Amino acid sequence: MTNIVLFGPPGAGKGTQAERLRDSFKLNHISTGDLFRNNIKDQTELGNKAKAFIDKGELVPDEVTIGMLKAAVKEDRYGNGFIFDGFPRTEAQAEALDKFLFELQTEVHGMISLDVNDGVLVQRLLERGKTSGRADDANEDIIRNRVAVYYKETSILKDYYQAKDKFYSVDGVGSIDQIADRLAEIVKKL
Ligand code: AMP
Repeated sequence: MTNIVLFGPPGAGKGTQAERLRDSFKLNHISTGDLFRNNIKDQTELGNKAKAFIDKGELVPDEVTIGMLKAAVKEDRYGNGFIFDGFPRTEAQAEALDKFLFELQTEVHGMISLDVNDGVLVQRLLERGKTSGRADDANEDIIRNRVAVYYKETSILKDYYQAKDKFYSVDGVGSIDQIADRLAEIVKKL
């Protein structure tokens, strides 16, 4: 089993690359952002709780997010492993993931970061907002808040995985194929 955390700021291309890895390595792709959006669409209780945070570009509280993630893993646990896309985003989430995977007799094998500079990110997200229908992609202030939240709350997770010797990074600028190749080289060795 191979479990990968795909890491990087909003707009780095995690979703696109997670789908490529899912297909190449037959992994289950779990995106907490997608799970939240599906819950909002279906107007579930969880979706209603999450919506106000997401619309502002803030993080959804840990207990809500962690519970949702665990349920998704339990539903899907019979593949070659998981690609976690957009999770963990806080140290409490990273610790909860370690504990939970340990209970399932597995672990995070590597975190791979997609490195993209901020100017490129905002442009990519504004462009995506024209077609994604996502409220949090449509407004430049919310996009900037999401990037700021990433640097304030999430980017420290690099140290968390580096301390465990599980941190890798690739250049996230280039064609989708080029970036997919860079990621595949790392995943093959995990
Ligand atoms: P994403 O699709 O990964 O960009 O996520 C969209 C939004 O969902 C984020 O801006 C957060 O509001 C929320 N979200 C997704 N994943 C998490 C997480 N792991 N922790 C807290 N909030 C999250």
